[in-house]
Amino acid sequence: MPPTNLPDSSSSESMMKASHPLDVWREKEYVSPNLHSLMPLGIAIDLGATHTRAGLIDRSGQILHRVSTPTPHQDIARFLLSLIRNVATEEEISQAVGVGISAAGPVDIQQGVLVNPPNIPLRNIALVGPLTESLGIPVYLANDCHAGIIGEAYFGAAQETENVAYVTLSTGIGGGILSGGRIILGKKGNAAEIGHFFVDSTYNMICGCGYPGHWEGYASGRFLLSFYRAWHIHHHKTFTEIPSIPEDIFHAACEGLPNALEFMDTLGIINGRGMSDVIVAYDPELIILDGSVALHNYSHLVPLMEEHIDRFLPLPEIRLSSLDGDAPLLGASILAYGYDTSIGSLNEGGTFLFERKSEKGT
Ligand SMILES: [Zn+2]
Repeated sequence: MPPTNLPDSSSSESMMKASHPLDVWREKEYVSPNLHSLMPLGIAIDLGATHTRAGLIDRSGQILHRVSTPTPHQDIARFLLSLIRNVATEEEISQAVGVGISAAGPVDIQQGVLVNPPNIPLRNIALVGPLTESLGIPVYLANDCHAGIIGEAYFGAAQETENVAYVTLSTGIGGGILSGGRIILGKKGNAAEIGHFFVDSTYNMICGCGYPGHWEGYASGRFLLSFYRAWHIHHHKTFTEIPSIPEDIFHAACEGLPNALEFMDTLGIINGRGMSDVIVAYDPELIILDGSVALHNYSHLVPLMEEHIDRFLPLPEIRLSSLDGDAPLLGASILAYGYDTSIGSLNEGGTFLFERKSEKGT
């Protein structure tokens, strides 16, 4: 039965006080299924290096419909429009609160442009303008890891915590930071590009951005194989089994192959340096690990990484994302509902049926 004390959506007072993306809506339990069709939905897109996913998502984070397809390297705006029309009917689109796009950075969130993601061969692609014009509803863009930490703040491990680093080890490596309950954005929405932290001058691997020594150039899904080969050459090791995909390296470690196990320790040092930089840069109380490389290889990656993290600051809690890889998509849905980066919470237009979460500790 609906409560009688729903917040007044016409008043901005509660949201003016809101300073925290943890102001989670609580209307989930108030919604009966037969009301679902009457409720506005958000359209979310997670534009990744290899795959792009789209979802039709309600305010409680329930993904009602989703599609996933390989990311093309041209006509991205037209591709996204087609994907949106695949995930939602024209009626649902016209009634949707908006579209949120999570995209591999760098991005320009003010201009709504995908700038030059190192793992996708696209440069300066306008997304927000063409999509807004075609769909006639608001469209918002964010760096994928910023969308990821928003997803975690609303639906995942960061719901109860104000200082969180979201670290994704996937095709690339990226980060999103919640500091004092607010996202650190930077000038154009590219803060915490932690994959480009400098972590090594021994192997001098060249990152996708073109510069040597960056974390992503070693431990990302895109570069693990190259690093594995370079490590063998540097240490005059011979391949006992030539890997063709990054998973082969982890399988070799599982089987106890000495070279693979030794390489895992070097990889632990590299990951430990990256994480040490994250900790001293942002002082998080929690680090959430996400991305296919981290999620599928926890036992080989995380203990060795933790072993090699500096203890200059106390080691924060480190845990895997519990959102099944959906944190950026869910965060993009929050963008669609009107997440205001200036107040770190949903803006006035997104306050309908919202109930402010009680202050932490009260
Ligand atoms: Zn780089």
